[in-house]
Amino acid sequence: MSEETLSNLMNEQRRFAPPAELAASANVTEEAYERAASDREAFWAEAAERLDWGQKWDQVLDWSNPPFAKWFVGGTINAAVNCLDRHVEAGRGDKVALHWVGEPEDDTRDLTYAQLKDEVCRAANALTELGVQKGDRVAIYMPMIPETVVAMLACARLGAPHTVVFGGFSADALASRVTDCEAKVIITADGGYRRGAPSALKPAVDEAIAKVGDLVRNVLVVRRTGQDVDWAEGRDVWWHDVVDAASAEHEAELHDSEHPLYVMYTSGTTGKPKGILHTTGGYLVGTSWTHWAVFDLKPETDVYWCTADVGWVTGHSYMVYGPLANGSTQVMYEGTPDAPHKGRWWEIVEKYGVTIFYTAPTAIRTFMKWGDEIPAKYDRSSIRLLGSVGEPINPEAYIWYRKNIGGDKAPIVDTWWQTETGQILISPLPGVTSGKPGSAMTPLPGVAADVVDDEARPVPNGSGGYLVLTQPWPAMLRTLWGDDQRFKDTYWSRWEGLYFAGDGAKKDDDGDIWLLGRVDDVMNVSGHRLSTTEIESALVSHPMVAEAAVVGAADEMTGQAVCAFVILRESAGVQGDDLVTELRNHVAKEIGGIAKPRQIMIVPELPKTRSGKIMRRLLKDVAEHREVGDVTTLADSTVMDLIKSKEASAP
Ligand code: ATP
Ligand code: MG
Repeated sequence: MSEETLSNLMNEQRRFAPPAELAASANVTEEAYERAASDREAFWAEAAERLDWGQKWDQVLDWSNPPFAKWFVGGTINAAVNCLDRHVEAGRGDKVALHWVGEPEDDTRDLTYAQLKDEVCRAANALTELGVQKGDRVAIYMPMIPETVVAMLACARLGAPHTVVFGGFSADALASRVTDCEAKVIITADGGYRRGAPSALKPAVDEAIAKVGDLVRNVLVVRRTGQDVDWAEGRDVWWHDVVDAASAEHEAELHDSEHPLYVMYTSGTTGKPKGILHTTGGYLVGTSWTHWAVFDLKPETDVYWCTADVGWVTGHSYMVYGPLANGSTQVMYEGTPDAPHKGRWWEIVEKYGVTIFYTAPTAIRTFMKWGDEIPAKYDRSSIRLLGSVGEPINPEAYIWYRKNIGGDKAPIVDTWWQTETGQILISPLPGVTSGKPGSAMTPLPGVAADVVDDEARPVPNGSGGYLVLTQPWPAMLRTLWGDDQRFKDTYWSRWEGLYFAGDGAKKDDDGDIWLLGRVDDVMNVSGHRLSTTEIESALVSHPMVAEAAVVGAADEMTGQAVCAFVILRESAGVQGDDLVTELRNHVAKEIGGIAKPRQIMIVPELPKTRSGKIMRRLLKDVAEHREVGDVTTLADSTVMDLIKSKEASAP
């Protein structure tokens, strides 16, 4: 990274110490770092004791055949039993597990741990009736409804790995995932509610099956919206016919610690999605411990809300497995943040008294765009902790989040992790760390990460390089589904013994870690390496800008030139060329002349994945006047048409 880019975020001087009250009763204190450093395996073994095992493991970690790790070797465990049965058996069956909120107002359901357990047992019995056996793959293509969680846990109970496909994806995207993992059954719904209207799901399933041939034996359909569906007799079955009729008694088998739990496909921000395989024991240890530690979860009093869609890994680790293993009470919301009005999320926070709130920077920037007065209308005083995940959080977005959502008191945990890592790896601990806006801070206890140069040498403080993980961790991916070679090539081939995350990062003078975006997205302008994140953060620090995406486009003079796409705050009104000039100068002032964008386009929307990540490769296609590439993993595939028409009409 050039000196220019390094200086910018390094100038960030704001610090936020943990609130005294939180620090005094925090689940995890400073001491955990030392304990974990002195014996990493003993540390994770202790974390594993928080779960219920059948057979205890004989070996914590088997790393004799890297990069193929085995954790808690010889142990047996059932993820669904850990998430449900053990809470019921401990007398907590009446505790609410899910405060489910449908998109139509007043369409709500509370499910206790006992009710959820019964549902999961019924669904497990129904799936068994349909011929699903341990090891079979089941695809789940659902809206955000309780049955989705039930379906996942029923699969986990049976040891049938699930693959959840985001409900916003097309039939093609569903078909390719079903084919890749050879799913025998698809669980879906007639539809779900999206922005005030029922949105169909079943037609995409029918279309996908037409493409994949007779691989899929059955489709299990939940009636959610009541809309008409085509029906294939003998193949399609209604959830209410088979699940409601099934027994709530189900004897759960204990699975090997390394038994596959699920396959989750990555967002495809940087290329073809990869089928990430997670297994049972280590994954549950990693997700449940980090959920308890990073969010300082107090299961008796907290109301936790993670806004992630279940079709993203965050919905798996921090809505289903981590929180339920910890016996949390949580909110699950079906719809979009603007339905039927832009205050919907804060209305939900107020109604349920949410104490811990976990969302993505993209959502925060959307709320910044909509204006401070919207959250201000609701009581958010219950919130005691905020989390961020998915992208680097721009310092201005962090400050806005803290002030407007967290009442200037709730600490923010900026959590870095990936589909591949399964669990949070780099994050502040809310009772220990003084947070810096824009920094994910330090590896969690038990996690070994570093920033290295091209020769895999750790960089000194104050320098940038590549983020790597230097030791295995419990929830790490075990391989790519059916493709051990691609697994090795993608993550382990760059340097011997190091996991290459694909992200650029730097260490500041204190050694704290700042994520700089994808290595693939780093730009090279006249020989200077510039990070997308820093230029985007500079743009977002301008009072009229809500969101920015930066790409490097081929340029005859400079090799690459900085091209920016910008969404304005609603308060900015309609703006023209003067603002573009002002923004270009603003970047030059914040970072240096080298980073000044050649071109800035003001756009209404940006192309994003289901987890809200900006798909820069598509913007690069626009900037380089190419045909736009694969859009199948966009949350909304019409966005690119909007941007292209904007470009066509530009002077
Ligand atoms: P693909 O690998 O197919 O391109 P993806 O990487 O977008 O998909 P995910 O696994 O959901 O899919 O995203 C992980 C990436 O998200 C990380 O590598 C990192 O770039 C980014 N990320 C997640 N959390 C943070 C964070 N707190 N700070 C900075 N970056 C983050
Ligand atoms: Mg990735």
